[in-house]
Amino acid sequence: MSKFVLPGDEVAVVEEYIPAEGTYEHEGIIRASVAGKLSLNDNDMTATVKPVNEPNILKPGDNVFCRITDVRASMAVCEIIASDGNDRDITGDKSATIHVSKLSSEYVQDVGNEYRPGDVIRAKVLQVKPSVQLSTQEPHYGAIKALCRKCRKPMEADGKVLKCKACERTETRTIADDYGCVEF
Ligand SMILES: [Zn+2]
Repeated sequence: MSKFVLPGDEVAVVEEYIPAEGTYEHEGIIRASVAGKLSLNDNDMTATVKPVNEPNILKPGDNVFCRITDVRASMAVCEIIASDGNDRDITGDKSATIHVSKLSSEYVQDVGNEYRPGDVIRAKVLQVKPSVQLSTQEPHYGAIKALCRKCRKPMEADGKVLKCKACERTETRTIADDYGCVEF
């Protein structure tokens, strides 16, 4: 049995159930102390209300972390992993694109010089409908983690290029100002 209740709603009586998490008892009546899903457990006879968080729906202006999945002539395709600054799971469409004109503050000739599949980036949401479009034009946006194309080791930022410590290969990217400092 699962029903949505609001704080103060009567959910059961003490003759039948024991008040547990998310509920309180007053004069024999068990009431919800939080908004959420009511659960009346007939095994241990407890009444609990599990709080329901507001869904995390993306909106223009949000910052998100994404993984690049494909690089095309006119865009980078990515999958949104999480919101930056909001731990709740994102509801809705998680696939997004970054148009070549929104990749960098500088002119981009080849999307493959800015991002490679597997890169983790921070991006800004420009629009969510009809499709999710992102931008990485400002300094705080861009790659925060990238792997060497040759040996797949994480590369270190060296000014505007990335360097692989293992094989000394250098690669270019659009790099966020805190590359290598973001922990998930
Ligand atoms: Zn390498």
